[in-house]
Amino acid sequence: MHFKGARIIKIHVYYIFNDIIFKQILNYVDIMKFKARLFDKLDNKKVKCHVCANECTILPDKVGICRTRKNFDGELFTLIYGSMISTGSLDPIEKKPLYNYWPGATAYSIASIGCSFKCQNCQNWSISQANPTDNGKNGFYDLQGYEGRGMSLVEMTPEQLEKRVVKSGAKTLAYTYNEPLIWHEWIIDTVPLMKKHDIKTILVTNGYSTPEATKELIDIGIDAANIDIKAMSDEFYKKICGVTSVQPVLDTAKQFKSNRVHIEITNLIIPDLNDSKEDIQKLCDWIVDNLGKNTPVHFSAYHPDFKMPSMKRTPYETLNIAYNIAKEVGLYFPYVGNISHEKGSNTYCPNCNHLLFGRRGYTFKKIDVTDDNKCPNCSYELDNDIIGEINKYPSHKFSFF
Ligand code: SF4
Ligand code: SF4
Repeated sequence: MHFKGARIIKIHVYYIFNDIIFKQILNYVDIMKFKARLFDKLDNKKVKCHVCANECTILPDKVGICRTRKNFDGELFTLIYGSMISTGSLDPIEKKPLYNYWPGATAYSIASIGCSFKCQNCQNWSISQANPTDNGKNGFYDLQGYEGRGMSLVEMTPEQLEKRVVKSGAKTLAYTYNEPLIWHEWIIDTVPLMKKHDIKTILVTNGYSTPEATKELIDIGIDAANIDIKAMSDEFYKKICGVTSVQPVLDTAKQFKSNRVHIEITNLIIPDLNDSKEDIQKLCDWIVDNLGKNTPVHFSAYHPDFKMPSMKRTPYETLNIAYNIAKEVGLYFPYVGNISHEKGSNTYCPNCNHLLFGRRGYTFKKIDVTDDNKCPNCSYELDNDIIGEINKYPSHKFSFF
């Protein structure tokens, strides 16, 4: 049994066409199981994982809640190191969503399978709730009603990813779609390769980390994160996400922010579950008090999915209320997504309300920021608010997983 990282195997394939024998040499990347970081060995060959706030205790031959970490003989291994659902897609960074970080940049977006949560409303359930096989080559489901379905995973070494991202010309690499925190070892090994080329690295995450895992990500130089704060109540997290508390998410956001990682927050508003004025007010107050008024907040409209197909969509009125509450508490950059809202896609100057970025979907209708990153109307300096270069003429090749 191999417990190493990625290795390249050459496979000689012979095939016959029109009575001629052809020989082809395929480079086959065998990722195998990869030794996990951040776990303790316990008695009776049990292990305790500290990569996310579930902090699973895992018996031999069992996996943790995310199903991507397995105890082999008293050692913990990740089953998804270098395993991807595709070799990457080029997205606008605004799709992550990040609106105040390298506006208009392309995000080379990669994802694996598995998640530390089991959200009833997951819009990416087909990857987040899949299980990897021990060799990281396939994903399958053991969910009731979904058994027997599966997918092939693409395997890659960190250096192969580096080559692909550099070749794409993307300014940023996003770990996204499923939960990236459980991809910890892969992120730790690939972020430094991006740094060599000044490619910024982004997490799109549920934020359910531990302080030690977050510290490793900060130390390796992760640049930005969109953190999903789903609600401010533990009840919501227990009932909808299958975990115990919102507190680790809030702690992760604070830890990143205080270590100068660019943070934007997403809040998916679901009718009757987290859509009261009190819910939204509490979230906005917490952001102002703990992350600062210049933290962008994306209120997102829910549409029915996965195990909550009969829920209704979030109406415009609710999102408009959320936008106005955020403005009233003093947040500079509230946004509204997944629904059309007259102001919710735009960025306005925090000082004079001048329109800086007008957007339609993920594209710009207008950009009005000076070359030295100031508001052209009042000269307000935006260096703490709009981070990175502005790509005024983005041309992304849209592709969706
Ligand atoms: S990453 Fe989280 S869910 Fe997965 S095994 Fe570790 S503690 Fe458990
Ligand atoms: S945290 Fe995100 S990816 Fe994971 S189950 Fe919930 S919605 Fe899906």
